[in-house]
Amino acid sequence: MKKGILTVVSGFSGAGKGTIIKELRKKYNYQLSISATTRQPRKGDVEGVDYFFKTRDEFEKMIEKNELIEWAEYVGNYYGTPKEYVEKQLEAGNDVLLEIEMQGGMLVKEQYPDALLLFVTPPNAEILKDRLTGRGTETAEEITRRLNRAAEEVEYMDKYDYILVNDSLDDAVENLHNLIQTRHYKTTHCEDLIESMRQQLNTLVSK
Ligand code: 5GP
Repeated sequence: MKKGILTVVSGFSGAGKGTIIKELRKKYNYQLSISATTRQPRKGDVEGVDYFFKTRDEFEKMIEKNELIEWAEYVGNYYGTPKEYVEKQLEAGNDVLLEIEMQGGMLVKEQYPDALLLFVTPPNAEILKDRLTGRGTETAEEITRRLNRAAEEVEYMDKYDYILVNDSLDDAVENLHNLIQTRHYKTTHCEDLIESMRQQLNTLVSK
């Protein structure tokens, strides 16, 4: 059986990654990896749905036991992707999404060279600031830290396979779905077709 496709969705904080992924999963069948984090739950965050909330001690134990595919420190907290769930889903042929920041995205690419790396951005920086302020879940200080982080991240955007501009939500969802399906087509249909043609042509020429 063919393995599923691993897709990394990164993007500036406030770019709308979470909303895009939520809408995508309402329409199509994608598995979402749930990360472990040491950040405090926000209003509305549910344990085991949004994150597995851990103490720093617990998180460091997960690192020691090699239970994470990758982990990174982001504005003062640890975030990491549990390995077991992702491996199982990919083996079962399911497509898996990772909503993770950039350092983590780069580490995933090293371990899974076939992973698809997508970066979500709003059309401009002013909209980014408005979205971060508008969602009302972070303090002014936290927003400043996240905007500073965005200014650093912009330097690495070109390491991603595709940049997804989140202007219209519906378009962003369809574009994300199409990019993953195109990757499927490449890895599944094309490889099978190439192999089949190779065998047929070798048989033909050896006759
Ligand atoms: P938030 O605190 O807004 O939920 O997440 C902050 C940042 O951490 C976001 O950019 C999010 O994508 C990223 N993040 C969430 N989970 C992980 C993870 O498992 N690994 C890494 N490297 N980043 C993560």
